[in-house]
Amino acid sequence: MAQQIFAYIAHKDGKADDTALELEVAARKIDADASVTAIVVGSDAVCDEVAASYKEVWKIRSDAYPNAEVIRKALVSILPADAIVLVPHDTFGMDLAPGLSIKLDSAFVADVVGLEGIEDGNLKIVRQEYSGMASTHVSCDISGGAVINIRPGAFQPDESKGAGGSVVDKTGDAGDLSETTRRFLEVVEAEAGDVDITKSEILVSVGRGIEDQDNLEIINELAEAVGGDVSCSRPIVDAKWLEKARQVGTSGQTVKPKVYLALGISGSFQHMGGIKGAPYIVAVNKNAKAPIFQMADLGVVADILEFVPELAEKVNEMK
Ligand SMILES: Cc1cc2nc3c(=O)[nH]c(=O)nc-3n(C[C@H](O)[C@H](O)[C@H](O)COP(=O)(O)OP(=O)(O)OC[C@H]3O[C@@H](n4cnc5c(N)ncnc54)[C@H](O)[C@@H]3O)c2cc1C
Repeated sequence: MAQQIFAYIAHKDGKADDTALELEVAARKIDADASVTAIVVGSDAVCDEVAASYKEVWKIRSDAYPNAEVIRKALVSILPADAIVLVPHDTFGMDLAPGLSIKLDSAFVADVVGLEGIEDGNLKIVRQEYSGMASTHVSCDISGGAVINIRPGAFQPDESKGAGGSVVDKTGDAGDLSETTRRFLEVVEAEAGDVDITKSEILVSVGRGIEDQDNLEIINELAEAVGGDVSCSRPIVDAKWLEKARQVGTSGQTVKPKVYLALGISGSFQHMGGIKGAPYIVAVNKNAKAPIFQMADLGVVADILEFVPELAEKVNEMK
């Protein structure tokens, strides 16, 4: 394939986001022999970090990060016309990517979970609809380039690879980045709670299936029995049944437990996007068609109000 593939690298506090390695794997699903170029705006440390996995890293010096308006302008100046650009499908990527495709006059596909190579010049793409209940197979004409939002966590990173790539400073080609209608002010961190679920090895996570705040007691008891911490999906926080610091997901915490129990959780991508490090996922849901079962290592079709107390009892008996 003659077209060049680029991966836009998100980062925070001088460290590349987990999606940095995931995009590299996604690029190889488009073209196994492609030489993928990483683009890093605003961090020398991140350039050096991702050079370990990418053959080439294009660096743009700017303190505008994470202002999508400025970064879009820079990318339009440096990218070739038929570039294929992979961008994480997170809050920032959703801001950056659609407008970038318009400026580049290229195709745009959002929230991609699978890439199945090129057939007759068209890229075969898999997306999900109805909260993951149905898959859509998209055939995308990429001859004029494409901007593709990749869902975080959809591709497993290949940590074994070492590319030892070079860093090329493209700041001079990026144009004048000082003119902007938006101004980045600050990152406001989520308030800290009484437990730091980002450090937990076992998470007992509860979703809307718990039905009532009083029923949370059975979740606490199971967490105590298995030696885990309680986390939750967003509706539980919205209902003010648990604090925001316990919410897993793209607008909550990113967690890396060894075991993740998903109890009465449907498995939306916003929730699953907060689970990293490929934990062993146990899902309990009364709907056998719930999307969470596609991602679970072990699935139990059951009513959590009956199953969870029984499980806690059995665990306590075994102890
Ligand atoms: C911009 C944006 C950001 C978001 N960020 C997040 C985020 O960070 N984290 C997050 O979690 N969500 C987030 N969401 C919301 C997300 O889209 C989903 O709505 C949410 O994850 C659904 O939570 P849930 O699985 O608990 O509820 P539901 O989707 O309602 O699922 C409840 C599940 O429980 C099952 N169930 C019901 N009763 C029982 C029972 N008695 N026993 C067993 N199973 C039962 C049902 O079959 C169903 O599968 C975000 C949404 C947007 C738009």
